[in-house]
Amino acid sequence: MLRLSQTQLKILEECPRKFQHSYLELLATTASPEHKEKLTWGSHFHLLMQQRELGLPIEFIIQQDPELGRCVAAFINTAPELFANSENSDSLRDSYASRIFRQAEHPRTLIFQDYLFTVIYDLLIAEPNAAQILDWKTYPRPQKSKWIAESWQTRLYLYVLVETSDYSPEQVSMTYWFVQLQGEEPPQKLTFDYNQTEHDRTKQDLTHLLQQLTDWRQRYTDKGEFLPQVEISSNLCDSCQFATRCNRTPDTKTPSPYLPAETPTDWLPNLAIIDEIFI
Ligand code: SF4
Repeated sequence: MLRLSQTQLKILEECPRKFQHSYLELLATTASPEHKEKLTWGSHFHLLMQQRELGLPIEFIIQQDPELGRCVAAFINTAPELFANSENSDSLRDSYASRIFRQAEHPRTLIFQDYLFTVIYDLLIAEPNAAQILDWKTYPRPQKSKWIAESWQTRLYLYVLVETSDYSPEQVSMTYWFVQLQGEEPPQKLTFDYNQTEHDRTKQDLTHLLQQLTDWRQRYTDKGEFLPQVEISSNLCDSCQFATRCNRTPDTKTPSPYLPAETPTDWLPNLAIIDEIFI
């Protein structure tokens, strides 16, 4: 059973050949220092929020990185309601308020066809009649919200929650918080509600995409057939790390079904695009 995440779905939909290189062959170039720095900052922020949710001290981390501390303080000031009940974590009491379940880095899994989906919610707040998925983003809020609404992260996270709980689609929502400060602007948020129509659409799209993947993997394994490449006209190849391997660099935009005879020595397992893995 192949384990999949929203990142793999995104890549599979964008370019099946990229999925092949990344996840069937585990090839990639190294991430740039700037990209690594952003990843590190993001993982520190997530760790800090998790520690805070668990009631562990965070002062030491903030002292090491004042900018991180400033972002966390601004976030808590902007959305105090999110943190008001955190001390009730994992407790069961008689009142309605204490029947709220909340957990940072909350993992869920779902088997769909022959695939195992794993999602990790940065924070899940589950009340008796409603549940919110919260996600921290360390890049600026996009001008248009459509692409994030249509992203596999939004669609898969909501789908998995409904499929693995008693909540109806109308009872769940997903909110992104864009926590890195932009000048004097406070942290921004985007909330997406859910409904049965969206749930059915996601199921249909997943079914179709995974049936294709099963077919492609079968042919890749049995006959050595490569997964399809995206159309050149999409311009995705221009910024793709596999452009050389695919003969799609700007000066060699000739599609080739053949791989180089040998794997270049500077190709490494693609750690940068492997999703968060919970322990
Ligand atoms: S270079 Fe183009 S065809 Fe090749 S993996 Fe990247 S996006 Fe796909």
